[in-house]
Amino acid sequence: MALKQRVAGFTRPPGLAVVLVGEDPASQVYVRKKGRVAARLGFRHQQITLPATASLDEVLHQVDQLNQDDAVDGILVQLPLPRGLDESAVMDRIRPDKDVDGFSVANTGLLAQGRPALVPCTPLGIMRLLEASGRELTGLRACVIGRSNIVGRPMVRLLEQANCTVTCCHSRSRNVDQIAAESDIIIAAVGRPHFVQGDWVKPGAIVVDVGINRLDDGRLTGDVDFDAAKGRASLITPVPGGVGPMTIAMLMENTVRAYIQRNS
Ligand code: NAP
Repeated sequence: MALKQRVAGFTRPPGLAVVLVGEDPASQVYVRKKGRVAARLGFRHQQITLPATASLDEVLHQVDQLNQDDAVDGILVQLPLPRGLDESAVMDRIRPDKDVDGFSVANTGLLAQGRPALVPCTPLGIMRLLEASGRELTGLRACVIGRSNIVGRPMVRLLEQANCTVTCCHSRSRNVDQIAAESDIIIAAVGRPHFVQGDWVKPGAIVVDVGINRLDDGRLTGDVDFDAAKGRASLITPVPGGVGPMTIAMLMENTVRAYIQRNS
């Protein structure tokens, strides 16, 4: 793996610290996965677990300690935080040059202006997938369904910077199906199983499914009706196994990037 080889040549391993507050089962799974990949790549990885009852001051104090620790290049506080904790306050406390999730207002602002930034991992991974498709993105019409700060909004910025013409849809949008059907790229980040139906997909379009939805029978499914859409799309990502692994890969890349920037 290219990243593993690069890391082996560094004078010290890149340090990634992941903070988990509370015991949300899905968050525990994500944090474990990130830790496993970091260890496999030769990172110095640490997980800090705080109780769900931790106060905002306690979480901020933990972030401050990691901000000051020279062996830590990347800090990630797993979201969502337990109810009552101000996520923005926590994200904004992370030093921008260690903010490997790219959720702080500093990195969000840099991305909005098209300046170098640590970019949120999910949209960054999606751009890598689109680049790897070999398609010329300039001039394509893209429809991003969802406007969250962690997926939809940064996705819109990145596609616009790749010279796509982007429409962002949300819960108050009208005619989402028509907007999608006119698009060369559909990015679905809604959090509703099979929200995007087969006939919303223009023949030959690229469909990226960000959604992770657990069905009553325990299976995971995406925001796109995959079976109906796959016959029309020229490229389509599955759930699980599509965007998810790219998100973790980009977290590792961002950590290496933070390491290099901090040591150059
Ligand atoms: P979120 O914060 O809940 O945002 C969902 C967005 O969908 C909102 O902007 C909402 O609009 C919009 N929406 C809801 N109903 C809609 C409708 N009927 N028509 C059009 N838009 C609608 O979710 P998120 O954090 O962005 O995550 C989205 C999905 O991606 C979830 O399933 C999540 O688990 C998954 N996810 C996957 C990865 C990965 O690595 N694969 C990473 C992050 C998230 P409003 O703004 O108007 O409410």
